[in-house]
Formats: sequence, structure tokens, C-alpha cells
Amino acid sequence: MTVSFDVFLSHDHDDFALVDRIEKILQRIKISAYVYEKYPRYGEYIPEVIKETIKDSKYFVVFLTHEGIASQWVNQEIGIAHAFDKLIIPVKDRQLQSKGFVELREFIYYDPLSPEDMIYRLIHTLRWRLSKQQAAEKGLALDCKCGSKFDDTLPSYEEVNDAIRKEGVFVYKCPACSGEIRVSPASLEVL
Ligand SMILES: [Zn+2]
Repeated sequence: MTVSFDVFLSHDHDDFALVDRIEKILQRIKISAYVYEKYPRYGEYIPEVIKETIKDSKYFVVFLTHEGIASQWVNQEIGIAHAFDKLIIPVKDRQLQSKGFVELREFIYYDPLSPEDMIYRLIHTLRWRLSKQQAAEKGLALDCKCGSKFDDTLPSYEEVNDAIRKEGVFVYKCPACSGEIRVSPASLEVL
């Protein structure tokens, strides 16, 4: 039996730092993401776990980085997602070529040196798709330096785009210590 996720994040282990960062952001906005390294299932047959998890996920995001394109695992996962007719969202290093099941899809391009624009596009694509299905819960999970964790309002797309245009940040107030919590509009990460 597998747990179902909103999104499966297909990646090569060398891209774990980036994928881990994205998973944490998605957690803040209540979108559940499967990252292989975070859900070890000791003793189970890995290809079967992966197949079931992809089948039970709503969306499939694949990281076509230098390592991802070359990865046998990633290519197998793309094949599985395709077989289950999942929406495949490819995130691709703009310098690289890729073929196969992702060839004619619209990519979210990615610059390894500054992934923020890709992160913004990816989280908003997922927000939009999941809210269309009414699957996204509202709210933004925040944590303060004082140790308090709480939920506050998730800004709308309009508020996000407006803040990016004005180069501003979102400021929240911690209910425990009244301290300011500053949040990046593009990535929704606490600054
Ligand atoms: Zn606080």
C-alpha cells in the first residue's frame, strides 16, 4: 500500500538539494510531494514502489538537468508516468537537449545558477492545477525564529506578481513573539 501524493518529483540523486528545497516550499503551501530519498521503504521492491507512487500521484514533475537526462531511473519514471497518462511537467536546464516522451511538451526552463524563476513557475503551475481540482488547501505554513509554527494567508497570484514587480517582500507577524517574518514572493520561502 502506498500513500498518495499531489506530485511526484522525478530527479537524479545529484539534484537532491534542489528537489529538497522545492519539496519544502510545496509543504508550506500544503502540496504534498514525493521525493524518493525522504520516504525509504526498506526491504520493498523499489521499482514496484515507484510505479505505485507515480500511479497514485496527481502530477509528475521531472528535473531534466545534466544528471537527470542521463539517469536510467529518471527515464524509467518518465515512461511509467506516460503509461499511466499522468500530466508530465518537465523542468529543463535550458542548455540541454532531451528527447522521448517529453519532447513536444512545454518546458519550464531552468538556469542552474539562479533557479528562482523556475521555482516560481513550478509552484504556481501546481497551485493553479490543484486549486482547479479544489485539492489545494488554503494557507501558508510559516515558522518563526522563536520556534513558533503557524498558518497564515497564502497570497493570491495577483498579490505575488504585484510584489515581484515592485521587488517587495511579504511581511507576516508571528502570533507568539510578534516578530516579523519576511517571505519571498517568488519562492514563498522565509527570508
Ligand atoms: Zn515568533
